[in-house]
Amino acid sequence: FPGDFSGNMMQRQTPDVMFCTVEPADFEKTELIDFNENLAEEIGLGEIENQNDKDFLSAQNLPENVKTYATAYAGHQFGNWAGQLGDGRAIYAGEIQNGNHQTEIQWKGAGATPYSRTADGRAVLRSSIREYLMSEAMFHLGVPTTRALSLSKTGEDVIRDIQYSGNPQKEQGAVVVRTAESFLRFGHFELLSARKQEDLLKQLADYAIENFFPEVSSENNPTKYIDWFQAICDRTLKMVIDWYRVGFVHGVMNTDNMSILGLTIDYGPYSMMDGYDLEFTPNTTDLPGRRYAFGKQGQISHWNLATLANAIFPLIDDAEVLEKILDNFGKQFWVKHDKMLADKFGFDEVLAEDEKFFTEWQQTMQDLNLDYTIFFQQLEKPISDIKAEDFKDSFYRNMSETELKKLSDFIEKYMARKFKNKISETESLKLMSKTNPKFILRNYLLFEAIQDAENGNYEIFFKLKKALENPYENLFPEFNKKRPSKYDNQTGSSQL
Ligand code: AMP
Ligand code: MG
Ligand code: MG
Repeated sequence: FPGDFSGNMMQRQTPDVMFCTVEPADFEKTELIDFNENLAEEIGLGEIENQNDKDFLSAQNLPENVKTYATAYAGHQFGNWAGQLGDGRAIYAGEIQNGNHQTEIQWKGAGATPYSRTADGRAVLRSSIREYLMSEAMFHLGVPTTRALSLSKTGEDVIRDIQYSGNPQKEQGAVVVRTAESFLRFGHFELLSARKQEDLLKQLADYAIENFFPEVSSENNPTKYIDWFQAICDRTLKMVIDWYRVGFVHGVMNTDNMSILGLTIDYGPYSMMDGYDLEFTPNTTDLPGRRYAFGKQGQISHWNLATLANAIFPLIDDAEVLEKILDNFGKQFWVKHDKMLADKFGFDEVLAEDEKFFTEWQQTMQDLNLDYTIFFQQLEKPISDIKAEDFKDSFYRNMSETELKKLSDFIEKYMARKFKNKISETESLKLMSKTNPKFILRNYLLFEAIQDAENGNYEIFFKLKKALENPYENLFPEFNKKRPSKYDNQTGSSQL
């Protein structure tokens, strides 16, 4: 039962409906900055042929047959029930079918919807570049994620107060077209459950299972919803382990930002981690609690899955079986985490003694705050070429004698452990090279690209785009370095 609204509409609750039709805002002078041709081909959209196509990417002059809408969802934010939320600055352009592959398309920043609460439904160039580049970087790193099809400027000024200084500034408006097999979130199910709309809850679950969960058999399967929840847990686990593998910190793991398909979604105050720190959070509104810090992402995934289990409970009605699946998630997390670390270290298997080895490694990294990415690159050499002094490329501060000793002791232990491999050194290095990125989209690189782009210069932007398409190669050695010290005090921002 869609409501009917237009571009700058009244923000409100929509008690009985799951979505509203909405019209994107009018932008007078849009400019296409980049179009992701590979993705366009993959989803069956083809090339840009004319101005109409460019207009579509900035949500302007839409053809009659494009019905645009925004969905309602709910969620737990920072651990608290937040009630009804929804697509506040995302508008759906519908779906595109390519063979049997379906893709949903959204504009982000194309105008207010009933779910915009007190905000404007707009996005600025800064946050749009962050979403555009990072979602593609994650894709090329092999991390499940939503993707980005295009970046356009709207020609509009948007007011933001990044420093929360009470002195807001004008920024350039922008729109990203993003895609996913589906943008369904945990929060969509939480909304229906909270409203006690159990028929709709079941319909939405069936829709999700049939369309996006080929691993769950949907016909005559008495445990269909249990299997589905297990599949969601499995996918979420894979996603979060990948985050740990590459050093990604999401920053806002509220349940409305959790994809039911296990995709990384909602690129806001995220950051890649430079110096290893389990307490690291890029989200300035998550201090001092650090609920969404790097080291908590496994635990929080578990918490979010428990919240989802509560929401879909009416479909399953068996607390014991859900608890078992959740318990198992906690156990599997460490199994997969150890396996992921073994891959990073180039070990062919996880030995019983490795738990101690990994713990020692983590403690050393935490104490010394070494650069996570550079550290593994220093290990990714034939044993005889590994030199303790090379690790200074990963230092963010001067090390004491004791600290240097700690590091070299660890490196010796690593070498000894590596001799227990059954695979050859070449095989081991191959494993390391496809597990450990050579390029990560560090926050300071984004910062530099954004500064230039705001002045109309996209050189760094396009160079980063090339680098992120080949993250396991060292295409640009100048990018493959720890964060320069002039950026040490640069903080993230949650202001989008
Ligand atoms: P987030 O923390 O990014 O997940 O955002 C939480 C909620 O606020 C979501 O429902 C968003 O759609 C909404 N939101 C965030 N930024 C804006 C904005 N500039 N305009 C409208 N809604 C927004
Ligand atoms: Mg969100
Ligand atoms: Mg957001």
